[in-house]
Amino acid sequence: MSLDPKRTIADLKELRALTSDDNGAQRVAWTDTWLKARDWFQTKIKSLPVEHHYDAAGNSWTTLKGASEKALVLGGHLDSVPNGGWLDGSLGVTASLEVLRRFAEEFNGRPPVTVRVVDWADEEGARFGRSLLGSSAFAGTSSIEADRARTDKDGIRLEDAVARCGFPIDRFPDATREQKNAAAYLELHIEQGPVLEGLGLPLGVVLGTKGVERHAVTFFGQEAHSGSTPMNARHDALAAAAKLALEIRTIAGKHQDAVSTIGSLKTFPGIVTAVVGRSEATLDQRDLDAGILATMYREAQEASRRFASEEKCTVEWSRIWSIQPIAFHPALLGFCEEAVREVAGTAHRLPSGPLHDAAEVSRAGIPTVMMFVQSLRGISHNKIEDSKEEHLEMAVQALDRLAAKAARWILD
Ligand SMILES: [Zn+2]
Repeated sequence: MSLDPKRTIADLKELRALTSDDNGAQRVAWTDTWLKARDWFQTKIKSLPVEHHYDAAGNSWTTLKGASEKALVLGGHLDSVPNGGWLDGSLGVTASLEVLRRFAEEFNGRPPVTVRVVDWADEEGARFGRSLLGSSAFAGTSSIEADRARTDKDGIRLEDAVARCGFPIDRFPDATREQKNAAAYLELHIEQGPVLEGLGLPLGVVLGTKGVERHAVTFFGQEAHSGSTPMNARHDALAAAAKLALEIRTIAGKHQDAVSTIGSLKTFPGIVTAVVGRSEATLDQRDLDAGILATMYREAQEASRRFASEEKCTVEWSRIWSIQPIAFHPALLGFCEEAVREVAGTAHRLPSGPLHDAAEVSRAGIPTVMMFVQSLRGISHNKIEDSKEEHLEMAVQALDRLAAKAARWILD
């Protein structure tokens, strides 16, 4: 049998039955249920002509050796958030496995290029708050000293949790060895947003992952009695923050794919009878274009100073985290577009708002591209996460076509 997309769906359902409960998928990295998912994967590759090992950071590598040592790498992540869905991450792993099966069969166990399937360790960062842990070790961008002391909600240290699974954190940097011979990386993922569903399209070509500017914005006013302080005498730190919360929507709205969110706003003293003396907001801005992102950041700062002055307050900014936008490889984007068009008729290009392991692989200098399949209702990180089975089958077909094109390109 050659490529069999229905087998991918059967694999996904098998994994769901094994690692979910009534609240959804429970494959949180470094837990027993996650290890169970990885053992299940071992049973899937048992009869294939492949070599398997875990690297120093716990990433799982399945290798079908080809005539050339140059490797086409496909992947995803079996870990999930708590109460997660059946497709986020797992689709990438199971579809990649199906493509590897096709290569193995078509070329009698020895394709022209080496084909590798990677299951990245701890993409979600659900337990310790550190996303892309395994892939950043692979890329050489990890931050061991910052990460080792992270704790979960029970006070267990990340360092101890990874060691319990057999991966001492001090050895994580050795995972960069897996970069050797990696000539291209392909990742299929659910969109996790509503764009493709809105366009009525099953598949999309991912241009890259958006850059992020994430800041704490604090307004300082003056606490005062809510009964005795006239309206024109107030230094209202909430009023300034509230104006900013609306203005960031206007700032992002000038650009097609930009997004901007104030996800948290705390007021102090936070009682019913006092004007707010201090308000602490978090701002998260994203775009695929570094110039647009820089403009949005500057405009938000300017607006915050204007609103602070209007409300007789002051404002301070401090950066929580930021990352540059990652643009995927032009040649692979072209192949991805061809593959999507061949299978689905129309190839829509869109950026990814969420970060993915593919961003880390791209940072390592390996040509990379991602493909999205439509998410129903745009919902993910939730047990109701779903995609139409016919769309999932098309996604496996398109990933296989993309893999065939990329394999030829690698040997050129
Ligand atoms: Zn994911």
